[in-house]
Amino acid sequence: MSKTSLAEELALKSFFLGPMAENAPWVKSQIDEIFSHWFDWRKHQFPFDGKCITTQNKKNPEFIHYRNNLSKELLSLLKKLEGEIPIFSPRYIGHMVSEISLPALLGHLAALLRNPNNISGEVSRVGIKLEREAIEFLVKMIGANKSSAKGHFTSGGTVANIEAVWRARYALDHWLALGTYLVKNNLAELDVWQSAHMGWEKFDRFINQHHINIEDLKEFSLVASNPHKAVKSINEVFKIDYLGPVALVPSNKHYSWLKGISLLGFGEEAFWPIDLDITGKLCLGNLHTKILKAKSENRPILMITSVLGTTELGEFDPVHKVNALVQDFREKENIHFWHHVDAAYGGFFCTLLGDEEERKLLSPDNIKALESVKYADSITLDPHKLGYVPYACGAIIVKDERHYMVSQFTAPYITGSGEGNLWLKTLEGSRPATGAAAMWLTAKSIGLNAKGYGKVLATSIETKLNLEKILKKSLKDCYLIPHCDSNVLCFCIAPNGEVLSATNKRSEYIYNEISRDQSFYVSKTSLSFSSYKKMIDQFISSWQGIIDDDHLVLIRIVIMNPFFSSQDGKINYSNALIERLQEVVS
Ligand SMILES: *Cc1c(COP(=O)(O)O)cnc(C)c1O
Repeated sequence: MSKTSLAEELALKSFFLGPMAENAPWVKSQIDEIFSHWFDWRKHQFPFDGKCITTQNKKNPEFIHYRNNLSKELLSLLKKLEGEIPIFSPRYIGHMVSEISLPALLGHLAALLRNPNNISGEVSRVGIKLEREAIEFLVKMIGANKSSAKGHFTSGGTVANIEAVWRARYALDHWLALGTYLVKNNLAELDVWQSAHMGWEKFDRFINQHHINIEDLKEFSLVASNPHKAVKSINEVFKIDYLGPVALVPSNKHYSWLKGISLLGFGEEAFWPIDLDITGKLCLGNLHTKILKAKSENRPILMITSVLGTTELGEFDPVHKVNALVQDFREKENIHFWHHVDAAYGGFFCTLLGDEEERKLLSPDNIKALESVKYADSITLDPHKLGYVPYACGAIIVKDERHYMVSQFTAPYITGSGEGNLWLKTLEGSRPATGAAAMWLTAKSIGLNAKGYGKVLATSIETKLNLEKILKKSLKDCYLIPHCDSNVLCFCIAPNGEVLSATNKRSEYIYNEISRDQSFYVSKTSLSFSSYKKMIDQFISSWQGIIDDDHLVLIRIVIMNPFFSSQDGKINYSNALIERLQEVVS
């Protein structure tokens, strides 16, 4: 805890309820405030309407019966919930979830009670405004252009990723439709690759120059008309056998990518994984190779994705290098690719960029990756992970208005398509304001900067680095994945020369034992050779392991809980975890 001063550590303790509900009296007072305010708000909206529930009503036996019954069943619900996983505890180091922060909890609760629906201004007045401001805070956090960036909250990273594919498809479909129209009418000489990546500037220029009516492009659109017919036109016009676009996504991807690609009708074949390098990150050389391969096969590129904080290992892909490559194609060949950064997990590490000491906790390459997120065409963030916000809260952010476009739909019962009426542009219909309010209050009170959340996340990385050291020292034959960039760590125990299947079996055993007695909650992950071959080969060679299996099983620990390294309780969590592991291993 050398880098965190006492004052900062104490500030951090005010951000959360505490494992023993230490801040309970104060939290209770704030919750009371929220409810009092809610009651008063109701009373003062239409004060002359009179009471609908009278004192007499409340004495009615039926009334009393149902109320007592509710009390009873509420207790039974609370009793049931006692069996829930204690995610708040520093002993929970399993998945990418932990204690929720107090501003997030209070903000969520305050908005929940008003229950606005951010689908439209007809059902949400303040909620929509809060959402716009909260998105601005996130835009500022990643350093993107505040005046042009757009976005909204989603139910999570999966939906945000699918929304990104939806938007990339909109751009590609428009460009390709225009290209097909132009070539068919002898207005330009373009091939399918040049058409599909022409970019909006060129698109606008062609439209203006030839006074083209957008409606006339419809018959060449795979989205707005019949895709089978449109493909026939593409084949005729470009004299090719069009097989559709491909999505280039690194093999370390989240499973949401396959869902999105197939859901939007591309077929799983359109999913082209980018190989991983020896550190398990997106291999830039292979990305370049795949781009050229796609070009040679007349397959446009729907999008290129890089991942900031992989779900398995918490690794940062070289976002800056992908960005440079994309920029290079733009400048030299006028080829516009859509670059999406899936920063569902890692995006919040941008908060520590503003502090020299905190920056040192990440490698220079990872700092560059974080600093390049802002250049992406679209970005996924998950406040319900490192934002310490309650579920369900994800976010999609795009560069500008144009990037925000999707095919338009109309609903006669919802009026208004102006500012604040996002339903035309969101995949989901009804949407809560709770996530936005949680994020808003967090940004206002703790701050999405180096002093606020940056400290929380810096502490989590320090704690993880510390735990790695202790694991290495205290557990015989313990091997840690060296490339876990953030607050995730993965390890296995492997005596020299052991066959991999035995190592994997041991990892499974450790996981099962720890899960059974529930003294700690860890997770496990299985890395396949088909995705991680280079990295696993090198990793296993450190103990001269013998490969007789097609995957590597690791114990995975995610250090998000701010109190894991606390010195003030009766327990030292690191030591307790090591003791438990030593017991299980022997
Ligand atoms: C968690 C995660 C997702 C999916 O987010 P959900 O909120 O679970 O839908 C996508 N990508 C990455 C990298 C993630 O870590």
